[in-house]
Amino acid sequence: MYQKIKGTYDLLPNDTKKWQSLEKTIRSVSKIYNYEEIRTPIFENTELFHRSVGEETDIVSKETYDFIDRGKRHITLRPEGTAPVARSYIENKLYADKLPVKKLYYMGPMFRYERPQKGRYRQFAQFGAEAFGSTSPLLDAEIISYAVSVIKALKIKDVEVHVNSIGDQESKVMYKEALIAYLEKDVQTLCSDCQKRFETNPLRILDCKVDKDTELLKNAPKPLDYLNEESKTHFNKLLAYLDAMEIKYVIDRNLVRGLDYYTHTVFEVNANLETLGAQNTICGGGRYNHLVSSLGGPDIPGVGFAFGLERLMFALESVNFKGTPDYLHLYLMILGEEQKEDGIRLLNRCRIGGLFSDIDFLDKNLKAQFKLADNMNARFIAIYGANEKAKGEINVKDKDTGKEITIKSSQLYNHIITELMNPNHSCETCEEDSCDDCE
Ligand code: ATP
Ligand code: MG
Repeated sequence: MYQKIKGTYDLLPNDTKKWQSLEKTIRSVSKIYNYEEIRTPIFENTELFHRSVGEETDIVSKETYDFIDRGKRHITLRPEGTAPVARSYIENKLYADKLPVKKLYYMGPMFRYERPQKGRYRQFAQFGAEAFGSTSPLLDAEIISYAVSVIKALKIKDVEVHVNSIGDQESKVMYKEALIAYLEKDVQTLCSDCQKRFETNPLRILDCKVDKDTELLKNAPKPLDYLNEESKTHFNKLLAYLDAMEIKYVIDRNLVRGLDYYTHTVFEVNANLETLGAQNTICGGGRYNHLVSSLGGPDIPGVGFAFGLERLMFALESVNFKGTPDYLHLYLMILGEEQKEDGIRLLNRCRIGGLFSDIDFLDKNLKAQFKLADNMNARFIAIYGANEKAKGEINVKDKDTGKEITIKSSQLYNHIITELMNPNHSCETCEEDSCDDCE
């Protein structure tokens, strides 16, 4: 028997319902903020991630799925979405678009060779957004507000927004020098990865999961203390805009985040929920003013975020999120082979008209079919047997109201539509007077 690859999972129909609801909410919030969807390939040239995410990051140095294709090209399954979106933005010259600030979002699978555990997989899904074309902290604030709105729309509570600034290139250089001077004599007390990072990319040390809580790192210099005037102004304006947007945040002086391309704002959203376990960061993001130019594009800044959708799903467990309820408008019970062709015509007409409809394919008896209709959560059950056919009629039962009537079979579709539209009917499935899914 074959089994799925370690670190992957199947989404069975009960799960996909929840995922579809999650995706629907994400899309509607994206519309509210006027972000458009972009879809890029699942694999890219390996070089793209080395140039953007950074050689020394965990993602690139340890976690990528790389292979050489039959044309001897070095290919990588995308571990994150920002670099591919930036690549596409440049390649398709989206900077020349009539909208000077291009606001994009994406959803889809990412691949990282990590140690699988709850909330950490080798194939996982992200929803992310990228906004290109402005250095204004207002765009940083909007990006954070967009992320928070998604969380609010999903009714997830107990989240904390952590923000920090690592400053522009100049501030980053000054900070780096201070950090090197501070760590120099104690490098050997750091984990082996951090000893390497000290040589290649010391900023990353603050982000280390192993050394994070040591006294050495707790007392290390912080990026906020090395911001030049411009970077300070950027950060203070961001905080003022967040206040104006009534977004609660904490300034997290240790936050640097793992990828090379960040400048100025970095942020994370943590959810303090039991259902998440140790992996409680549901969203991370920041500003990247030099990513587009470092990939060979024009000097255009950007800011973005990425959510881990599995972790959002775990967070949703705590708010008892059920997803779109399962239901049918019509279960059509065709009794007897003789009635099949006419019955199928009726079914077809209902389906053409858009009614969610189903039938039995196993010649089950009446009792078993009632059970099936129940399992399918059908609101109307229509019975079409020899008697009904002879009279040109059909028997229809409304499970919501208990009403049962016999009507002309040609009226089946109209009858159901009229009942579904009845404004006095309240939806039992979602207990609302009328709802998108049940209308
Ligand atoms: P972590 O610190 O948890 O490893 P990260 O800094 O590597 O996260 P990002 O690259 O910022 O994560 O990705 C954004 C989000 O994607 C994370 O906040 C998390 O919710 C999710 N994520 C990252 N890696 C995985 C994974 N292997 N499995 C599931 N979700 C993930
Ligand atoms: Mg990681």
